[in-house]
This record gives sequence, structure tokens and C-alpha cells, in this order.
Amino acid sequence: MNMNGVRDLWPRLGEVSGPLDNDSLAEILKGVLETILHLPWLATNAGGVFVAHPQKGHLELVTQINFSPFIAGTCRRVQYGHCLCGRVAQSGRLLHVDCVDERHETRYEGMSNHGHYVVPIKWEDDLLGVMVLYVEVHHQFDENEGKVLEDFASLMGQLIQTWRVRQDMAIADMILLHSNHGIIMTDSDLKIQWANRAFEAISGYRLNEILGQTPGLLCSGKHSVDFYNAMWSQIEQRGYWEGEIWNRHKNGGIYPHWLNIVALKDTEGRILRYAGLYVDLSPIKAAQERIHHLAFYDEVTGLPNINCLRDKLGRMLAVSGEKGEVVVLLFSLKHFQEINASLGRKAGDAVLREVASRIQGILQPGVVARVGTDEFAMAWHSPGGPTNVETTVGQVVRSLEIRLRSPFEYAFQELDLVCSVGVAWGENGDVETESLLKRATLALNACKSRSGVSYMAYDLDLGRQIEHRHLLANSITTAIKSGEFSLVYQPQVGRDGKMTGAEVLLRWENQIYGMIPPDFFVPLAEERGYIIEIGAWVFEETLRQIRRWRDQDAFGDQRFPKLAINLSPLQLMSRNVITSLVNACDICEEHPGTIEFEVTESSMEHHFESVSEHMRLLAEHGFKLALDDFGTGHSSLARLHQFPVDILKIDRSFVVNMSQGSAHVALVRSIVDMAHALGLQVVAEGVENQKQYDILLKLGCDFFQGFFFSKPLGGDEFIAWVKQRSETFRSQFLLESVDG
Ligand code: C2E
Ligand code: CA
Ligand code: CA
Repeated sequence: MNMNGVRDLWPRLGEVSGPLDNDSLAEILKGVLETILHLPWLATNAGGVFVAHPQKGHLELVTQINFSPFIAGTCRRVQYGHCLCGRVAQSGRLLHVDCVDERHETRYEGMSNHGHYVVPIKWEDDLLGVMVLYVEVHHQFDENEGKVLEDFASLMGQLIQTWRVRQDMAIADMILLHSNHGIIMTDSDLKIQWANRAFEAISGYRLNEILGQTPGLLCSGKHSVDFYNAMWSQIEQRGYWEGEIWNRHKNGGIYPHWLNIVALKDTEGRILRYAGLYVDLSPIKAAQERIHHLAFYDEVTGLPNINCLRDKLGRMLAVSGEKGEVVVLLFSLKHFQEINASLGRKAGDAVLREVASRIQGILQPGVVARVGTDEFAMAWHSPGGPTNVETTVGQVVRSLEIRLRSPFEYAFQELDLVCSVGVAWGENGDVETESLLKRATLALNACKSRSGVSYMAYDLDLGRQIEHRHLLANSITTAIKSGEFSLVYQPQVGRDGKMTGAEVLLRWENQIYGMIPPDFFVPLAEERGYIIEIGAWVFEETLRQIRRWRDQDAFGDQRFPKLAINLSPLQLMSRNVITSLVNACDICEEHPGTIEFEVTESSMEHHFESVSEHMRLLAEHGFKLALDDFGTGHSSLARLHQFPVDILKIDRSFVVNMSQGSAHVALVRSIVDMAHALGLQVVAEGVENQKQYDILLKLGCDFFQGFFFSKPLGGDEFIAWVKQRSETFRSQFLLESVDG
């Protein structure tokens, strides 16, 4: 037997790189088959080799020599138990058949008669395939021949088995080579022997640059000697280690990896190699950082968010004893919602970013955060003691005001960055994060409901007030039903001193708290959304009063008073409110000219479009409109012509200030003159004495209202006042005529 020919086949396996395919196996087996067919004593000239697929229950023809095309095609796959080869696959024993008998189930027309040796190919006890050889018809079985053929079959078994192992190894090599995770192999002295491509990418080194070096060249310097000692002592004891490690890339960058080190040992427990598996943690870290960022930072401004602030406040409070008190300043932008609604969210976002950039640098050190839609926060340590804290708060509020003072220009519009500010402070033991935030919020809300205040600081008094406010807010809802509201009428007089009308003012006498001033509860009702319902009640109650006065013929031959009703900006913004006012007047058959609505400047500053349209609607229906508290807002006289206003009410503060000197008098004079130039009449409110009255008369005011004439009066008192005043006038007139 020529075994050299077979041995020649071995190098071929070694040459194959990458996973071995079926063709390479077929070629090897064909070489063996050729050798057999050349054996002079067997007299065979055709044969084939099948590989077994036991799970599928069939043989697969991998190579053949001199098979007829029919057999080569039909026997490509042979079921176990079928024909001669299938039977051998099933029995696992050599079969010799000297002619084509009934067991030869595969036949074709013209097939010549022939004999067979069918030999099982095995590895240990497993059937790996079947070899079939054609011999001449009636060729007799020879035991020696059988033995030689079984030897060849056993060689084929080794080849198939080797091929399979090599194939598995090649696949494993492929997996290692192409794995996404970096893998290195070192010898027992930690000298690098092999690394895959992923490792090259992770480390930045090519394999040939690091061969023979130790993985120590990746050291980042981030871990202590203790860290490495613990790692190696575990590898020694348990044979493996895994954990997070920061390694230095060839480019100098430091990256996190999950490292798995395994010591590979021989059967006697000696370490042969170390294998290291590196999983790149950078994407995971980046994702974690992104999640952290989303959870702790605001996307629009990039500032820390409320969670982050809470976290930082907790830390600040923890060291508050030594570093001073923790101050929290909250501020909210006044017109943010309107900017969002009228100019869109892009504009809103631009405003937020602008504010965020302007407030950067106010605190050093300290925290700046965006904590709500239009709310920002600042927190810092201040030296303890109320005076110190108040000083630092004052400084921060002033810097804030200075930085937000100039309007922000967006899409050719100037947007005011006005804000309300609330401040609270405390230290560990006296306050916690949540209570500190709550106190700052309460102070902020208090600031919002008070005009002309730059900031509010939380103190116990404010705390009590707020609690009071909270309790009151809850009672407002029941106040209408329980009849706690009433109206009073403050007379207004003309230049001749005679009554021309009255301002309708709301009063609330609560069962528990007594008389509550409207300056306190009106903003509260606006804040809680009750003002629409209350405003409707005021209007209807005024109409009922008018009806009662008319029924009594209360004013006799005198002019019926014009009644001025205060409208909240929220009422003025609502189309429904405006139509319900018009309808209510219609139903009572009262002439709208009897009613004057007082609107404030501030309600005309925002929602310009809808407010001016609603005012026009009221004017068209015959209602009069007065601009209340003139001079306290930002609108200029020049803009007044855009609104259908008939009357301008000079705010009480101007009247009070007139006593301070000529400049203040000149200011009132210019307001009166300009109003007249615009065709408006002027009411001076808050007239408290003769001197003020005289000056205002001289300046040309048309109407007057104030304690000098009368306090606000109930419906019946008002009639009595009017009667008494007209009698005084009559007697004065009589006296004058007697004198004359
Ligand atoms: P306002 O519209 O400016 O009303 C004038 C306020 O000045 C009234 O206070 C009035 O009593 C007070 N006053 C009148 N003459 C004098 C004076 O000579 N000296 C002084 N020191 N004060 C004088 P009141 O009634 O407390 O109302 C306060 C504010 O409450 C009103 O200011 C108005 O803004 C609001 N308000 C009152 N009633 C209503 C209402 O029915 N609806 C709405 N929306 N607001 C109302
Ligand atoms: Ca008023
Ligand atoms: Ca007023």
C-alpha cells in the first residue's frame, strides 16, 4: 500500500487558511480514493466516498471517480438504509456484493452488472462516512482485501476527523480574529504573542509593534499599585480576573474597558498563557453620560435641571456649617408664556438660552440651574448672619437686574426680560433641600403678586401670610354663594364739584378673617382663575344696583351716575367674557353708556391683538373705557390712540407726589395736556385734600375721585351722599344768590 501518497496530503490541510470548505475535504479524500483505484490487485476502476450526516439520516457524496452521470447525480444524497451504501451506514459493517442484486435499489437502464466493496468510514465508534468501490462482477470476497480497505477507510476517517477539528479551529480563529472585542494572548511571562484586529483598534498598536512586550504598555496611570496587586493576586488564586480598567491608547487618550483575564494552564496546573478580553466601554460610558445628562441637565439651555440642583443643594447644605448659609434664589420670567404663545417655541427657547448665558458668571462659585418652564435658580454659600446674607442677596439681585435690563432682540422684536425673584436661605439642621426650595418658591410667588418689588425674601412673616393666603384662596370659591361679596361706590365729581359717577369697588367680608382688602384677594383670585366668575358677579350686581336705583328713582332730576367697573386683564383677554358682558347688559335693557370699564395699562401690554379687538368691541357697543392707574405701567401716551379709550385715570401716586414740588406738578400737567390733545378726558384719583384738588383743577383735570370727596359707599349711602351734596350746592347757590 502506498501510504506516501496519502501522507502527501497532510501539508495541504496546513496550507488552508480560513475555515476549510467541503471542496478541500473532497480533494483530500479523492487523493486517497485515487491511490486505492491504482492498487493493481483489486481490479477496480470506479468508486466514491460519502460523508455521513447522522442527524439528517443521510450520506452525502463528496467525491467519486468514474461514476456514471446517473449514479453521480442520483447518489448525491443517500438515505440511511437505502441501497448498498445506506445499508452499510446503518449497520456500520463492511459489505461485499458480487453482482447487482435486489439490494442495489438505485438502477438505470443500460447499467452494467458489477460487484461492490462497501466500507464504513469510522473514527473511534462514530460513523463518519462510507466508501464504495466497484469491482468486477462475481469478484470473490477476500479477507485480506477487506482488511486493507478497512485500513484505507480508517485513514479516511482520520482525515475527515482532522478536517472537522481544523474546521472548528478555523471557525474559532475566525471568531477570535474578527471579534468586536479586543483579545490578546501572552505567554506565561506576559509577553504578548498574539492580538486580534479589535485589539489593534482599541489600543492603536499594530500587532507587530507590541509582539514580545507586556500589556503594561497600556497602563493609564489611573489605577494605583494596589489595584494591580489585587488583580494579579486574584488571577494567581482563582485563575481569572474581570473588572473595569482605564487604558492608554497609542494616541495618549485614556479609555475605559471591561477586561477579562484568564490564565490558561496545562494538565499539571502550570500557567502556559494568559488570555485577555477587552470590551470597549466608551460607547456604554457615553450612553450613561447621555442618560445622566438628560436626567440632570436641561436640554434647551444646557444648565443643570431641578434634579441636579436638588443634588447640589444637598451637598451644599451638608457643608453649610463651615461654608456659611445656603442661599437659593429663584426667578421667573414675567412674559415668557406670552412670548411662547405669540412668537412660538423657537422664540421661547431663544429667550431661555439668552437668559442662561446672561446669568452665567454672576455667581462664583455657585450653581445656576433651570428649574421650570420659565424658572431659573441660583444657589450659593453666603457668610452666615442675616445682614451678611441680605448683602450678598442684594448684590446678586442687582447683577441679575443689570444683566437682564436690556431687552433681547429676536426676529426684529425687542423682548423684555423682566423677572420676579424669590429668595430663601438656611443651613443644615435648620432647613432641608425641599423646604429651602419650597420657601424660595413661596417668596417668588409673593413677589409675583406684588408689583414694583424687585425681590421677596422668605421669612416667618411671609410664611404666615402665605399660609393665610392659601386658606383664603380656598374660601374664595364659596364667597359668592355665601354672600360674602358686596359692592361699594366711590363718587366721582366734575369740575363744578357735582357728582358725575362712581367707581364700583368690590368688598369681601369673610366669616372668619373679616374684611379682606381687594389689593390682597383680587391678585389671588386672578392667580387661581376665579376672577372671571367674580368679575361676572360684579357686573351683574352693578346692573342689579342700577335697576334698584332706577326703580326708586333715586337720583330724581339729577343725572344718573356713570358707573366705572374694574376689569381684570384676564377678563379682557377672554372673548367669552366680553360677549357675556354685552349680553348681560342687553338682557337688563340697560344702556351701555351708563357703564365705564376701567382697564389697566398692564393688560394692554400683552396679548395686544386680542385685547385691542375686545376693547373695540366694547366701545362699538357703547360702553365707555377708562385707562386705570395711568403712569404706573410702561405704555406711552403716544400708543394710546391705538386703543378706543375715552378717559385716563392719573394714578394716585402722581397726585400724592404733587406736594413734593413743581417738577411733579409739571409731570401731571404734561399728562393732562397730552391726554386732552389726544381727545381724552382725565380723572385724578386719590384726591385727599383741598390743596390737591385746587392744583388739579388748575391743571385742567376733568373729574376727581378721592377721600376728599368721599370714601367708597354702599348703595343707599351713596344716594344719601348725592342728596346731601346737592343740598349743600343748592344752599350754597341760594347763599350766593342772596349775597349777589
Ligand atoms: P383701583 O382701581 O386703583 O381702585 C382705587 C383704589 O384706591 C380703591 O381701593 C380705593 O378705595 C382707593 N382710594 C380711593 N380714593 C383714595 C384716596 O383718596 N386715598 C387713598 N389712599 N386711597 C383711595 P380698593 O377699593 O382697596 O381697591 C383696590 C384695588 O382693587 C383697585 O384699585 C382695583 O385694582 C382692585 N379692585 C377693586 N374692586 C375690583 C373689582 O371689582 N374688580 C377688579 N378686577 N379689581 C377690583
Ligand atoms: Ca380702578
Ligand atoms: Ca386706580
